[in-house]
Amino acid sequence: MNNAASNCHRSNIIENNCSDVIVIGAGVQGCGIAQATAHNGLSVQVLESNAAPGLETSSNSTKLIHGGLRYLETFSFSLVKECLKERRLLLKNAPSLVHVNRFYIPIYKTSKRSRLMVYCGLRLYALLDGDWLGRSVGCIKKANWQSLDALNTDNLKAVFYYQDSQTHDQYLTKAISKSAQQLGAQFHFDVQVRSINFANGEYKVTVAKKQNIDNQKNSKLQNNTTENLEAFYAKSLVNAAGPWVNQLSRLFIPAVEMLAIELVQGVHIVVDCRISESCYYGESPDDGRAVFILPWQGKTLIGTTETILTASASSCAASDEEIAYLLRFVQCYFPSKNISQDNIVEVFSGVRTLLRGEGDTNSLSRETRILASTQYPGYFALYGGKLTVYRATSEHLVKQIFKSVGHKLENYKSTRNISLEPFIDKTSNHFEV
Ligand SMILES: Cc1cc2nc3c(=O)[nH]c(=O)nc-3n(C[C@H](O)[C@H](O)[C@H](O)COP(=O)(O)OP(=O)(O)OC[C@H]3O[C@@H](n4cnc5c(N)ncnc54)[C@H](O)[C@@H]3O)c2cc1C
Repeated sequence: MNNAASNCHRSNIIENNCSDVIVIGAGVQGCGIAQATAHNGLSVQVLESNAAPGLETSSNSTKLIHGGLRYLETFSFSLVKECLKERRLLLKNAPSLVHVNRFYIPIYKTSKRSRLMVYCGLRLYALLDGDWLGRSVGCIKKANWQSLDALNTDNLKAVFYYQDSQTHDQYLTKAISKSAQQLGAQFHFDVQVRSINFANGEYKVTVAKKQNIDNQKNSKLQNNTTENLEAFYAKSLVNAAGPWVNQLSRLFIPAVEMLAIELVQGVHIVVDCRISESCYYGESPDDGRAVFILPWQGKTLIGTTETILTASASSCAASDEEIAYLLRFVQCYFPSKNISQDNIVEVFSGVRTLLRGEGDTNSLSRETRILASTQYPGYFALYGGKLTVYRATSEHLVKQIFKSVGHKLENYKSTRNISLEPFIDKTSNHFEV
């Protein structure tokens, strides 16, 4: 995304009414914040450069509503506990968008994680979910391995199972945006934020309309282009631009605080055959990373990779090597299915925003960070996050917004009981995970 304002354009600025809060970005987090803000009686405007909500990271995920079993390896117990709590709430509030499924973890002689380690991890996972007796986890008897969808049994030592949930990430995001709109939030699509100013306790956010952005791209005579800009005003500003968070932050003059981030690309492939009705969680034969094989819309979803991006998030694109890595993974677990390049019907990639730290991408924190500016009162930037915990993140953030616009915190209304209506795709007229 290019946020650089061009100086050579004449500007017709449409001035808009002031609201309490402006949210930049209509991904799952921006929509969640809009929902929680509007539910609490604050006026909110959401500015999104795409034509609909959830078209970036929030539609390119692994589509799991999960506690994050592997985060136990980095001792992120509070994150896992919060994710599991949010999973329960989503199963209650959005039953048509989130469903439980069985996950299998095969352990081979060559597996990095031992049987004992996986078993202890699963028992802890169940415990953190309130399942004290570990009823949701267990081990498949060797005599029953042949019932496991032609899973490779060479050197197989054990197969564990546990429960987690799947969703349709984009439909979930759309359902949250619909809920936010019903509560009074105003969404503006096809508008790209170009400048941010702060004066007299108020933010002025100027956007360019998409039509004009496209016109500019096509125009060779840029100096003669008239830009229709629109200005929005609010006391509080939330930067929920996902992997573009720092690109947005750089619009502040003087500069605003930013966190150092790593942009990590994750690629998925969809193959045309249904390997299983259940989910498999395995280790890549290349490097031992955890990768999923999931049923998805009558087909199978395999992912993901983790590749550090050196350019901007907009440069994210699957490489041949990443696709080959995922194919090697599925071929290793289900060799008799003969899955090859010819079976691939879709490839998609998303970008994780991880806080820079020590170690490899796998060990970087998956926690969401809300950065509250000390220089700019009422300005908040959101770093990282998960689909699963969008609601909890929104709740933490809106409590801070509340204080910044002078409302009393004891009046805060939680979103934990708001139901999400299914989003129906009018073109296919059905919803299937
Ligand atoms: C490969 C991968 C797999 C994942 N799997 C899972 C999973 O299985 N489960 C899970 O819980 N989480 C998962 N996640 C994490 C989850 O998908 C993300 O944390 C979440 O979608 C981020 O949402 P967001 O709203 O912060 O960002 P986004 O969805 O990227 O939204 C940001 C929005 O800001 C808009 N924007 C940016 N700049 C501007 C501008 N200048 N003007 C106007 N609009 C702008 C963009 O157009 C975009 O719509 C995964 C992430 C990745 C990358």
